[in-house]
Amino acid sequence: MSHDLYKVDSKTGKVTPTKRPCPRCEKGTYLAEHYNRYSCGRCGYTEFKRNEK
Ligand SMILES: [Zn+2]
Repeated sequence: MSHDLYKVDSKTGKVTPTKRPCPRCEKGTYLAEHYNRYSCGRCGYTEFKRNEK
């Protein structure tokens, strides 16, 4: 695992992933982040974000 995949908030200690790997493509392929979803530029896989509060 790489630290580049996660972002740690220095105040809250909350860890949030900054990149999501594509489940359909090979390792190293990541989903592009959009305001409400992630999408893969290779295969077109789309994963919608969940609004967690
Ligand atoms: Zn893909």
